[in-house]
Amino acid sequence: MNEIPKELLALKSDKYSPNLRKWLRKELDRLGEHVELVVVSREGRRRIGYFHEDDFVGADLPRVLNSGVRALKFCFVEAKLHGYQADPEFWEKYRELGKCHLDPAHSWYNERWIQTGAKSRQCRWCGRRHRLYSVVEKSEVWREVKTTTNGHK
Ligand SMILES: [Zn+2]
Repeated sequence: MNEIPKELLALKSDKYSPNLRKWLRKELDRLGEHVELVVVSREGRRRIGYFHEDDFVGADLPRVLNSGVRALKFCFVEAKLHGYQADPEFWEKYRELGKCHLDPAHSWYNERWIQTGAKSRQCRWCGRRHRLYSVVEKSEVWREVKTTTNGHK
C-alpha cells in the first residue's frame, strides 16, 4: 500500500512537514486523484506523484519539503523503464518517524532536539539519541627540516 493515510493530512505535529501536507492538499484538490505515490529513482532520489503509463508525474520529495506548493512538478519520461520503484512502506515509515524518515542523518532541522544533558540530546520526533564527541582531526603536512650544516647535497 502506498496511499496516504487520511489522518496524516490532519496531523499538525511539527514532526510532519506542513509543506508536504499543503502540497498534497493542493494536488488532491486539483486532480481529485491519487498523487501520493512515493517512488525511488535508480539514483536513490525520492519523488512523489503518480504513474501515467510508463511516465511518472510528480516532484522531488525534498523540494516539496522545502518549497511546499511552489515545488515544481515534472514528467519523468519512461520512469518505469529507468528503474523507478514504488516505495510501498513510505507512508507507514513517515507516520512513525515523520520528517526523520526523510533525513535519517538528522542534519536538516535543529528544532527537533531536546537537550538531555550537557553532551547529550534526543530527537523529539523519532527518539534517536546523540552524544557530543570531541573529534581531533589528523592530517599530514610537508615542513622544512632545519639542518645544522649549511650545504646542500
Ligand atoms: Zn529523529
